[in-house]
Amino acid sequence: MPGPSVTFLGGVREIGGNKILIEDGPERILFDFGPSFSPRYDEFYLNYLKPRSTSPVKDLLEFDLIPRVPGLYSREALHGADLKHEAPKIDAVFLTHAHFDHAGYLEFIDPDIPVYLGADTKVLLEAIEGSGTNGYGQHPWKLLSPDAPVELGNLEVVPHPVDHSIPGAYAYLVRTSSGTVAYTGDFRKHGPRAELTERFLERTAKEQPEVLITEGTRLGPDPRKNFTEQTVRSEVDSLLERTTDLVLGTCYPRDIDRITTLYEAAQTAGRSFVVSLKTAFLLTAVAGQPGFPPVPVPGQSPDLLVYGRPKRRYYHWEEPFLSGAVDADYVRSNGKRLFLMLEMMHFPELIDLRPPKGSPFVYSMSEPFSEEDLEAEVLQNWLDHFELRKHSLHASGHCSETELLAIAHHLKPTTTYPIHTEHPDEFHPKGTLVVSPKLGVPYPIGTP
Ligand SMILES: [Zn+2]
Repeated sequence: MPGPSVTFLGGVREIGGNKILIEDGPERILFDFGPSFSPRYDEFYLNYLKPRSTSPVKDLLEFDLIPRVPGLYSREALHGADLKHEAPKIDAVFLTHAHFDHAGYLEFIDPDIPVYLGADTKVLLEAIEGSGTNGYGQHPWKLLSPDAPVELGNLEVVPHPVDHSIPGAYAYLVRTSSGTVAYTGDFRKHGPRAELTERFLERTAKEQPEVLITEGTRLGPDPRKNFTEQTVRSEVDSLLERTTDLVLGTCYPRDIDRITTLYEAAQTAGRSFVVSLKTAFLLTAVAGQPGFPPVPVPGQSPDLLVYGRPKRRYYHWEEPFLSGAVDADYVRSNGKRLFLMLEMMHFPELIDLRPPKGSPFVYSMSEPFSEEDLEAEVLQNWLDHFELRKHSLHASGHCSETELLAIAHHLKPTTTYPIHTEHPDEFHPKGTLVVSPKLGVPYPIGTP
């Protein structure tokens, strides 16, 4: 029997798309299973040009955009594909967190394969499914307890909570028959739950890992400012203080920490915070759930309003928030007392909102990685047309390159694999051998 190994089936030279296979004897487990947003994906699929829902795996395999793993996919997802359905050959999937690039392809996985995840991540997946954004399929869901090891034959998986831009993120220590693999998932050291990351790193150092699989989102050229959540808060505070007009903003729809930060800033400034129907649904779904920080709750928290975007038909899940929702007329007349969140896909609302010229627009998301980002260009066109002033105020969900260098140096694994990065070759920590992994190649763990 060959010794334990790790194979990267995604997340190689790309940000997102993590799919990591760890094998030890007969045991085979996967960590994360998200779609790739690599340039290669964009060569064939774009916006509404998507794989067909009737034959998703076939349409992705055509361009090698999903791994050809026997005994992984459901019969339904494999419809039409030349990869035939087989009884599961994967023992389990472990999810690090609920972001789409880590969890988005769970729906293709055989419904007999158990999926391990944090209770809070499960709540988030249900909330995302509940608002019709994505589906994750039916699986035997296994809820993890922080630090409680899960034994699967030769492998023992220990989940450790870490800080990331979504609650409920886990990193994993995977004990194999030739040493421990530490997998960071996505993580940061400067968010509201930074002490969780510190704790994970302390435990990992004690474990003297053989292998470190680290995310490297911010490796290489990183022109963005490294704000903490507190810096975002104080910058927004001062912006609100010096503004008398309507304030607009946008952030990642699932960044619950940021939504809460901006809400609190609005409250301090004596403004009401106005969220979309989708955000209202998400906040209601996670409010009071174990593991979640306190969040503003529509209909309960003061100074919180919901923007009822006009639609021909509302979804069932939107209906509870429509009574009392405000419209463009309300925002136009009360702009001085409001901080309105507006997702880019709802920008046509600006045509009715007619914000006063020069109104600030808080862009609370990461700046695009490339200068030819079409979305960034369109966003700027809208801001220019309405003469809105963009203020980029964001705390990243990811560790900086300097932090990652210090982490790898401190943990001193024999081998480090940077993934979830476009620049794996630019990572040179001291005291560890860095290997920029190749897609689909099994790398042995430890010395056999
Ligand atoms: Zn993430």
